Amino acid sequence: KQEHIRKPDWLKIKLNTNESYTGLKKMMREKKLHTVCEEARCPNIHECWAVRKTATFMILGDVCTRGCRFCAVKTGLPNELDWGEPERLAESVEQMGLKHVVITAVARDDLKDGGSQVYAETIRAVRRRNPLTTIEVLPSDMMGLHDNLKTLMEARPNILNHNIETVRRLTKKVRARATYDRSLEFLRYSKELHPDIPTKSSLMIGLGETPEEIEEVMDDLRAQDVDIMTIGQYLQPTKKHLDVKKYYTPEEFARFKEIAMQKGFRHCEAGPLVRSSYHADEQVNKAQVW
Ligand code: SF4
Ligand code: SF4
Repeated sequence: KQEHIRKPDWLKIKLNTNESYTGLKKMMREKKLHTVCEEARCPNIHECWAVRKTATFMILGDVCTRGCRFCAVKTGLPNELDWGEPERLAESVEQMGLKHVVITAVARDDLKDGGSQVYAETIRAVRRRNPLTTIEVLPSDMMGLHDNLKTLMEARPNILNHNIETVRRLTKKVRARATYDRSLEFLRYSKELHPDIPTKSSLMIGLGETPEEIEEVMDDLRAQDVDIMTIGQYLQPTKKHLDVKKYYTPEEFARFKEIAMQKGFRHCEAGPLVRSSYHADEQVNKAQVW
């Protein structure tokens, strides 16, 4: 086991917890909703919820049927499907006055449709109540089944985000059950179905990848016509998760962003605290192709 590397200063930030934040947390409990912002103790929560008016919800329960080695979401027997969730989520988006909402989901490998019907219904419910809010979905590969992606995309989210997470070589070690090629195919098929809906993918770095491998991911995503890429620092959620192999400097991130833009992405967000959903509201405008 490797020695623990010290966290650099640019990653030490204090959580900003004010009153409005406490109120929103209470609302989440009452409506039995889960946000990645809270569960991942995301350092950007104040900026996102209060200033940028964006949040990331996690639907289909808070227990995942997979157990990726970087992810803090609980693994185990999944919750029962909750058909009331779409409407409650739509109400919360309204109450929070969100301009942009990211809807992600645990992987539901126990369901034939991968949860895609509830997912689609959630998009529709949010849109009915919040016609001006842009909706980004961030699904798992839903077992790589085309029909599941089709069901989801028929509800026409504004952006389809599916994370490649890591480089090809490390995928098996880092992600559970997902494969690198299946994720690429997922992104490709979304573009085939709806060429006008922008696609997006995120990469975590700091897991032992090389700069060449990072560039290979960029090329592979561009080959599927992916519009937006985000690159962020992997942070170990608990000691049981994979170790951080490297903390990249802000300058190194800036360089990766430059390379990504040269490779033809419409937008790239890269930085130590960048998360898949960070500044997602800006990205959707920059990638608007309809
Ligand atoms: Fe939530 Fe994403 Fe913002 Fe973090 S970056 S607070 S997860 S919306
Ligand atoms: Fe976490 Fe998603 Fe992996 Fe489930 S599939 S463990 S939610 S990263």
